[in-house]
Amino acid sequence: QPEIFYKVDIVVIGAGQAGLSAAYHLQKQGLKSGKGFVVLDDEFESGGAWQHRWDSLTLSTVNGINDLPGMHFSDVMQTEDLELQANIAVPKYYEYYEKKFNLPIIRPIRVIEVTERKNRFLIRTNGIQFSARGVINATGTWKTPHCPRYSGWEKFKGRQLHTGEYKNAEEFIGKHVIVVGGGISAVQLLGEISTVTETTWVTRRQPDFRDYEFTPELGREAVAMVDKRVREGLPPNSVVSVTGLPITPAIKEMLDKGILERKPMFDEIIETGVRWADGTTLKADVIFWNTGFRHSLDHLKSLKLTNEKGGIEMTGKLATQVAKDPRIHLTGYGPSASTIGANRAGRAAVKELMEVLKL
Ligand code: FAD
Repeated sequence: QPEIFYKVDIVVIGAGQAGLSAAYHLQKQGLKSGKGFVVLDDEFESGGAWQHRWDSLTLSTVNGINDLPGMHFSDVMQTEDLELQANIAVPKYYEYYEKKFNLPIIRPIRVIEVTERKNRFLIRTNGIQFSARGVINATGTWKTPHCPRYSGWEKFKGRQLHTGEYKNAEEFIGKHVIVVGGGISAVQLLGEISTVTETTWVTRRQPDFRDYEFTPELGREAVAMVDKRVREGLPPNSVVSVTGLPITPAIKEMLDKGILERKPMFDEIIETGVRWADGTTLKADVIFWNTGFRHSLDHLKSLKLTNEKGGIEMTGKLATQVAKDPRIHLTGYGPSASTIGANRAGRAAVKELMEVLKL
């Protein structure tokens, strides 16, 4: 049976902040829903990764949610209520947004592979197949948790989980939890879990606490460093490697209480816990990996965009355009992996892609 491909000009993959911003700008530039562009998202509901964030992440503990273009967050949510859960508030905002602008989002549909044939991209999914002249990939990182596999991984009798599976601290009451990782999520969640049960913190490197306030200027400097890396074709680095861990009042309190006493990374996982090279062991019920996420790009593998440095060389105004193929943009990638970055990236990507495709 011949395969049937639905022809469009541009396919946007992912309907988080980055995909929604791109969709808004495509529409604003006059591209029609359907034949002009579609947005494919593998979730059942609106919200991108935000619908999966843990319950204690509230509007007071997030780093900040930037407005999407054309509609304020505060238009639909009581943003002054800082106790609002981010996993409820942000998906609601996106839901209103999608409806207000009548964005052509198809869900749930998962893009399995993008290939190229006769100057068009074939977008294979677990539903309808698409053929497009350009692709804006906005698939975020949530679907690709990163967990280093330590020796003995499969022997452990307790529970191992990644940040992406965390719901709340109560599930660990009465258990000894080893929290792995030196990033912001590790520190925040360690703070939370240590109030209800016994914890041990392990990190590969000495945590990089920095006694400064995280100002917008420092934020811009951090973004500029990631921007430079991806333009050189290097893989984007982790946020904490650029910003360190600014000592906020919450972190100061944890340091004073001794919660942030850290042990070096263990060498092996054993049935009952972990073991260091010198033979010291520690019993544990849970190993909680806060070891980050990677950009979800597996479906683009056939396009061979990755270079020998393990990165994708990026170009364009905000480094969203793939240097090797200007018909592909990655938004929410590298320097635009924040709600504010994703927003701006959507606009820049649409402008540049429409120029390349002469739309
Ligand atoms: P996502 O929101 O992940 O959206 C991507 C969408 O694509 C998802 O719906 C996903 O299911 C879908 N998708 C993935 N693969 C496929 C596929 N193959 N086919 C179809 N659909 C697919 N940034 C901030 O600005 N402020 C914060 O406070 C903040 N806090 C954060 C906290 C945590 C714990 C983490 C991990 C990140 C945080 N960030 C924060 C960064 C944040 O991830 C980005 O800001 C932004 O929300 C990501 O948007 P996105 O559109 O790139 O990705």
